[in-house]
Amino acid sequence: METVTDYFGSLVFNDAVMRERLPKDIYKALKRTIEEGKDLDINVANSVANAMKNWALEKGCTHYTHWFQPMTGITAEKHEAFISPAEGGKVLLEFSGKELIKGEPDASSFPSGGLRATFEARGYTAWDPTSYAFIKDETLCIPTAFCSYSGEVLDKKTPLLRSMEALSTEAVKILKLFGTEAKRVITTVGPEQEYFLIDKADYAKRKDLIYTGRTLLGARAPKGQEMEDHYFGALRTRVSEYMQDLDRELWKLGIYAKTSHNEVAPCQHELAPIFTTTNIAVDNNQLTMEIMKKVAERHGFACLLHEKPFAGVNGSGKHNNWSISTEKGTNLLEPGESPKDNAQFLLFLVAVLKAVDEYQDLLRMSVASAGNDHRLGANEAPPAIVSVFLGDELTEILDAIAEGKPVPGRSKEKMRLGVHVLPAIPKDTTDRNRTSPFAFTGNKFEFRMLGSSFSVAEPNTVMNTIVAKELREFYPILSEAEDFTSAVNDLVRDTYIAHRHIVFNGNNYSSEWVAEAERRGLMNLSSSPEAYDTLLSPKNIEVFGEFGIYSSIELHSRYEILNDEYSKTIHIEALTMIDMINRQVLPAVMEFSGDLAKGIAAKRSILPEMKTEAENSRLAEIEGLENNLYRETKNLERIVAAAEDYSGSSLAHYYRNSVIPQMESVRSYCDALELIVGQKNWPYPTYGEMLFYV
Ligand code: ADP
Ligand code: MG
Repeated sequence: METVTDYFGSLVFNDAVMRERLPKDIYKALKRTIEEGKDLDINVANSVANAMKNWALEKGCTHYTHWFQPMTGITAEKHEAFISPAEGGKVLLEFSGKELIKGEPDASSFPSGGLRATFEARGYTAWDPTSYAFIKDETLCIPTAFCSYSGEVLDKKTPLLRSMEALSTEAVKILKLFGTEAKRVITTVGPEQEYFLIDKADYAKRKDLIYTGRTLLGARAPKGQEMEDHYFGALRTRVSEYMQDLDRELWKLGIYAKTSHNEVAPCQHELAPIFTTTNIAVDNNQLTMEIMKKVAERHGFACLLHEKPFAGVNGSGKHNNWSISTEKGTNLLEPGESPKDNAQFLLFLVAVLKAVDEYQDLLRMSVASAGNDHRLGANEAPPAIVSVFLGDELTEILDAIAEGKPVPGRSKEKMRLGVHVLPAIPKDTTDRNRTSPFAFTGNKFEFRMLGSSFSVAEPNTVMNTIVAKELREFYPILSEAEDFTSAVNDLVRDTYIAHRHIVFNGNNYSSEWVAEAERRGLMNLSSSPEAYDTLLSPKNIEVFGEFGIYSSIELHSRYEILNDEYSKTIHIEALTMIDMINRQVLPAVMEFSGDLAKGIAAKRSILPEMKTEAENSRLAEIEGLENNLYRETKNLERIVAAAEDYSGSSLAHYYRNSVIPQMESVRSYCDALELIVGQKNWPYPTYGEMLFYV
């Protein structure tokens, strides 16, 4: 029998394959490019391309594609066959270094947020040799970055790579001051992915799921998640077969899918991989989402990645576990065992605190979407307020440092960083608080505000950039100090004092926290359009510009794209709702009430004194709701039509403030009707049928 070790990574042109198939000098040159970012020589590229092609052909490939991540957040690919004509009507299979390195898809159909108006429509893709090529659907996929012809960023990978580079540069400088050897610093990410599986047949009957990814209508089922019997519960056979199949497909692609379990809501599950370098984690997560959907089809399921597929039960998020380590794998967020390590650890820790505090808005913005608005602050996910959980032990230590008091659990003397060892910070107690949006979990931070359908590229781009910014600010303070140890001590203390208001270890779901956060002056950007509006504030433009992550032009384009995407999402949702009400719900209700009326008339024609009390009151009840539903749907149509008068950010705000509330009103009448109209008459599967499929 084939074991996991036999097929793990079998579809990836990884290091082992390169070592085996490339001439030694070519392999070495490529490694230098991967590890040190050295430019790739065309001869090397030709040789790599040839080896890649032969490997792919042996695996049955006929095509190759530059696989990239446009700003839509999903991946794109344009397939090219390897064939080129040869004499005598024959065919040659070719793939040159040039084709490997650069592609030129037409960029005009991807969002560019105005960049297209100013620049050429052409774009090009450039190979990212730090992420391995892989095979999907008989096609060799080459991970690439995507730019406009004049170099403006059109994708999510380029800024991410730039931000990793920025953080590395700044962190290496700081490490040198501590005497820590590091050539490079890399950020690592392990994204935990939540999803729903429902029966494909049910999915196919719901236009809302098909067009928008979530249910726009639907009354609560008699049972929801209140019995708490799903979390970590035994898997349905079908689901367990799905998960096995999924793991196998992911393993073939070299993705370390590690943990799978049931989540809180019925039909909800989670998959977590083992963490890896951020840009690979991003690529892997994009692939994981795609494979999840594909494998679901094979098992008669539809995989829902939307943040809120069902009202009233938990939605899906993505936990972004983030850390920084040296190229040798030393985790810089791991409290060390020596005084030096601990001083270094605390310095990086307060750099993160300061970054999160000063750029709350950017972090919030990086997780904003129409879908995620349903979750944040809805008692199932962290609120829209960004704060940091440090855990009691670490907070006590930092408080003691701030106040110049002895550290609890230690001797009476005052602790001095770089001189004394930190008391042990028990790892298991640091992760108890599941309500925090940004939690320190022993040796990494877990950013828990991401939506399930997100690319994790953007939040990590923000994380890396803002931490790089703080480290750059720290550097001269430390490098110019006469007494390094004292300077570290003071810097940790002062930074903590200035930013401790971002630390909150309590219940983030409580209403007291909302009030408390306001008192502390923390931001509460409750909707996506509000969050987007912070993107172009001077300090945000400055930080991205300073590190060359996004130019001001690129940021303006991002801003336009985000608002546009938001407005379009709500627009499609509103039109889908109108369609379902007008063409499915109202006809069903009218038919049902018509039958009721006919029944009443029929009964009375036989026995005129019959009261038909139940029928009469049901009919009246339905009549009332039906009229309201009709009227509110008409209003929704009018409100949607009036969106024409707005554009950009004001359009997004209009959808948020005018269209969404009206959709809620329509839904309330529809859902009330669903509960009293005959089951046979209802035009699409109910929550109960979808969530408790057999
Ligand atoms: P949980 O209790 O949330 O499941 P785990 O420790 O199992 O916590 O980790 C969850 C995720 O965090 C996994 O994807 C794991 O690989 C990832 N992770 C662990 N260490 C790191 C790290 N140093 N950097 C980034 N991610 C990490
Ligand atoms: Mg977690």
